[in-house]
Amino acid sequence: MTLVFVVNSGSSSIKYQLLDLESGEAVVSGLLERIGEPGSPIADHEFGMSIVLAKLGDRGDEIVAVGHRVVHGGPNFAEATFIDDDVEAQIDALSVLAPLHNPGAVLGIRAARAALPAVPHVAVFDTAFHATLPPAAHTYAIDTELARRHKVRRYGFHGTSHQYVSRRAAEFLGRPLESLRTIVLHLGNGASVTAVDGGRSVDTSMGLTPLEGLVMGTRSGDIDAGVVFHLARQEGLSIDEIDVLLNRRSGLLGLTGTGDMRDVQEAASSGDETAQAALAIWRHRIRHYIGAYIAGLGGLDALVFTAGIGENNALLRRRALAGLEFLGIEIDPDRNELQSRAERFISPDGAPVAVLVIPTNEELEIARQAYALVEAGRPQNEVQR
Ligand code: ADP
Repeated sequence: MTLVFVVNSGSSSIKYQLLDLESGEAVVSGLLERIGEPGSPIADHEFGMSIVLAKLGDRGDEIVAVGHRVVHGGPNFAEATFIDDDVEAQIDALSVLAPLHNPGAVLGIRAARAALPAVPHVAVFDTAFHATLPPAAHTYAIDTELARRHKVRRYGFHGTSHQYVSRRAAEFLGRPLESLRTIVLHLGNGASVTAVDGGRSVDTSMGLTPLEGLVMGTRSGDIDAGVVFHLARQEGLSIDEIDVLLNRRSGLLGLTGTGDMRDVQEAASSGDETAQAALAIWRHRIRHYIGAYIAGLGGLDALVFTAGIGENNALLRRRALAGLEFLGIEIDPDRNELQSRAERFISPDGAPVAVLVIPTNEELEIARQAYALVEAGRPQNEVQR
């Protein structure tokens, strides 16, 4: 067994997996919640980590690397990186770009480094896969000096998932990654779409923060920034209130009152017009990106669905792609309806574009990247981009 411990730490939670890289399977996995909350028996991440490590038992002694999921790598990190005190401080400093995410990751990193001081710790960033975006795709058209000073640009997120899924797609198709133009639709509670050209991310829908792009469970996705000024002026909302509104009370939740796609779809199926309208908006945005990314890629070889909605909901996949046959995008109804956990085709044989469902596995990708770095024994790898 080659055991890698994967930690996804939030401000009040620790999600973890002990993965055996030889089988690709999780040996132990779990989630600790309500850390540090009033009345919780788990006062802080240090204590939480000690509970987690106790659950690993003797296998904890065999861990060869710890992989930490970090949401924002900012301009500092273009790939997985060994964590030392300096890298930890940089991740902490990047909290200005990801105030909801990076502070929690740092708490997990500190606790795990203290508990497992002899094992190499590696940070794997959600933004890193998108470090290859060309300037035209990652630059916002605002004052250059202001943007530079505040590190304002498109970073993109879900990179670990987009990277894993686009590589698996090439392996599944038995074609070289370098030859493929792929669009990955990561449709979970958070959602993003990425154009991958020859294995490199060349465009992605999330931006400086995970707010931009598709209609999500609770996030609005794309919105005219003018809406922010308008609401501030007319409704007297503060910046923090608008942040909460757009990140936590918008998207499907804002449109329908529920952020869970299963409920929205059920309501739509039983004739609820609000839910039907929400699905139409959700679908409109997805198709907007498919069209844009095909234009950017200059064609398309594979279109891949992943994450909670993308892996499990045949009806929404079909509706998202209906009428796109003129682009070579077709779905075989029987293949699409098949309930399965396997990687699979849902396009008919011989269709110009391979439409696939590939279950994502961010933990496995984090474990592999962490182990690859340890194997290569590379020193700290900081890239300015
Ligand atoms: P996250 O984005 O939180 O990592 P997932 O990728 O697991 O989560 O996606 C979770 C979301 O997927 C849930 O919010 C749920 O709405 C949606 N989902 C899961 N199964 C289905 C389904 N069969 N139909 C529609 N939506 C689904």
